[in-house]
Amino acid sequence: MQHNQDSKFEETFLPMTSIGSGVGIAVLPDIYCYTDQIVNLVLVGNPNESEDFVLIDTGMPKSADEIKEMVEERFGEGAKPKAIVLTHGHFDHVGSVAELLEEWKIPVYAHELEIPYLTGQQDYPPGDPNVASGLVAKMSPMFPNHGIDISANVHVLPADGTIPNMPNWMWIHTPGHTPGHISLFREQDRTLIAGDAFVTVKQESLYKVMTQTQEISGPPKYYTTDWDAAFESVKKLETLKPQVAVTGHGLPMSGGELAENLTYLVEHFDEIGRPDSGKYVN
Ligand SMILES: [Zn+2]
Ligand SMILES: [Zn+2]
Repeated sequence: MQHNQDSKFEETFLPMTSIGSGVGIAVLPDIYCYTDQIVNLVLVGNPNESEDFVLIDTGMPKSADEIKEMVEERFGEGAKPKAIVLTHGHFDHVGSVAELLEEWKIPVYAHELEIPYLTGQQDYPPGDPNVASGLVAKMSPMFPNHGIDISANVHVLPADGTIPNMPNWMWIHTPGHTPGHISLFREQDRTLIAGDAFVTVKQESLYKVMTQTQEISGPPKYYTTDWDAAFESVKKLETLKPQVAVTGHGLPMSGGELAENLTYLVEHFDEIGRPDSGKYVN
């Protein structure tokens, strides 16, 4: 489901899509994972039980209409989330947030260390093409790295770990990929929304992104700036023993497969997580 877009951004941007683009999966009755081109967003809320739900991340730029359509398909005409929670501020996770807010006028929550990138005060370092051989990594310097400005709507997540409008959920600081990266965890059924702390597709490889080949990986390499912190974050998530994980890229993973892969990632982080070289490696 490739959308024709005419923004300046698209002119310098290679067509990015995957076989899963435009497809949603109800991972659990109240967890709906939707793939927008190459990135996942999640609706948390059970449409059969309540009208209340929260949107985690906001997909690629220029996807607002597609996202609103997806939301209305699941929660009914005119439905809008109670809030948006951002795992971090990279362009593929905040791409449509400003446009969505024009209509929705709802609060957005993010970690305090991510706020400078969401209020126009700071830009991310550019993507590093040298971390991996994949085409997506080579393309990464062309990705937008500028911070956005949603200062009118963005709020710092509560310091006690709770998440407004998401009872039973806690946010967990999982820095490394970005300074204020968070993951979301629900202990009662051990459901994890990991963001880009780890992903289930080798995001550097265009072929694997397009085919959504399942393969556990550390955070997308071209963007990650603090590898020691990224490793600590993966270890932190592994100790939670998640039963289901929805990651920022790739298909959801669960059960024994998830446990095995996550343990493997922790034990082999230097081989499969951390790049051998690159400007953010040392
Ligand atoms: Zn990211
Ligand atoms: Zn991402």
